[in-house]
Amino acid sequence: MQEVFIVMTGKTLAAIENTIKAVEKLGGRALHVYPPSVMVASVPADSVGQLSGVARISAAKTEPFAARELKAADAQVTSAMAAWNDHVSVERRLQALASPTLGKSWGAARMQPPDPPREVQEHLRQREQSLLGPRAVSRVEGAPNLSVPVLVGRVAVGLVFVDSTVAQYSITNQEKLKVVSETTEGLNLLASFEPRANIQWFYDIKRPKLSLTAAQFTPANQNNWEDIWRDAAMGALGYSANLAGMNQYINSIKQANNAQWAYAIFVTKYPKFWFGYEWANHVVMDFGVDGWGIDEFHRVVAHETGHIFGCADEYGSSGCICTSLHGRYQIANGNCENCATNFVPCLMAHNTPAVCDYTRGQLGWNELAVKSKGSTVLKGTWTFDFDTGTQGPATGADIWWEQVNSVTRLLVPQSGAMLAHMGKPNFDAVSYQTLQKQSYTATPINGSNNAANQLKAGTVIAVKTNAGRYAKLRIDTYGYNLAITWVTYK
Ligand SMILES: [Zn+2]
Repeated sequence: MQEVFIVMTGKTLAAIENTIKAVEKLGGRALHVYPPSVMVASVPADSVGQLSGVARISAAKTEPFAARELKAADAQVTSAMAAWNDHVSVERRLQALASPTLGKSWGAARMQPPDPPREVQEHLRQREQSLLGPRAVSRVEGAPNLSVPVLVGRVAVGLVFVDSTVAQYSITNQEKLKVVSETTEGLNLLASFEPRANIQWFYDIKRPKLSLTAAQFTPANQNNWEDIWRDAAMGALGYSANLAGMNQYINSIKQANNAQWAYAIFVTKYPKFWFGYEWANHVVMDFGVDGWGIDEFHRVVAHETGHIFGCADEYGSSGCICTSLHGRYQIANGNCENCATNFVPCLMAHNTPAVCDYTRGQLGWNELAVKSKGSTVLKGTWTFDFDTGTQGPATGADIWWEQVNSVTRLLVPQSGAMLAHMGKPNFDAVSYQTLQKQSYTATPINGSNNAANQLKAGTVIAVKTNAGRYAKLRIDTYGYNLAITWVTYK
């Protein structure tokens, strides 16, 4: 696949949709859209040439832009071009590899984590409830809580630079371009972890200029610092100068782009009680990103965006626990550094470009592209087909629950299917990617009614079906009949 910067002549959402369709027809997908005229897409390398023949595409570029081209474009396009130049720059990629904080825990000693202290977090969670209403928490593992968004499909991002006429708070063009570039990079990273989610970021870049002075931010009103500049910024953008105004703004970019979800990222030098945090539907970011540095802004913004979509922190000093449930599908926080049995690097734990299966589950990705799923009782001597989710099919069964005699029982792969015993991981957190990585064999699994039994309750078996799909199977209760839960991916 090759990333391409596409310039469109159309000026409407319908025109953008047509271009996205043309890109998809070539086997590609849209990654970043800066309405109305620019998008970055990923297309098969041998199809790049065909883009120039598509109606309303005036340019399709795989190289960086020259300085004179940046100068000639309008502000929105210049931002997109500058971000693109950074994205394809070799220097940037090498610099990222040499980053001294790459892979460090967000809770590392002498560093500040990208989340405020506990008491401030608690204050934010209370404000969140006052804004969105109490999130109806199901508290049942795996039971969907629809008030939490999933990171799937089109997401509108309001990138709001709260600028100032006061020197100490004013933002330079260079700083703005750097942050657009870092934000794009961070969201690109997040989307790249799961191509099947087909995430399209639609940007709305704003730069309200305020005249609030330092005297207006005092220790006495510290809890309201964000409100002071955010309300003023909303007023300057033509919305009500209050929280309702921010909601109107976020809703307007969701509607305008026909997005599935929307949130805002406020970037400002105005006082704030932490360099990076989120609550409800918005993220607040400082240029300095504390000790992490502006070059790490992208991973901090990706981390904060994870929170918007239901992810929990996993670094030790966040106070995380492995049993708390998060995200729409209420997935346990099993990769929390304090208690994980098999900790793996993850963006929610470290400054690292990776996500663990628990985070995937919290983002809703383990529920993507499901072919069949459910719970049933697999009766002794019967077969089961994971592709269709049926017991005892005429053909195409993947397993046979063989009863050799009253003691010896075997789970036998059928018709070319293969199995891998995974032990007892958290079933809901087992991702499609993890299923792909298993070592499958046609060897039956011993489920005898004695000490050799490998099918005790809680056991998870990975299945490569006879149709080539991946499925996961959990034994819920063991016996002559097996109570099972399964998910088969397309
Ligand atoms: Zn966090």
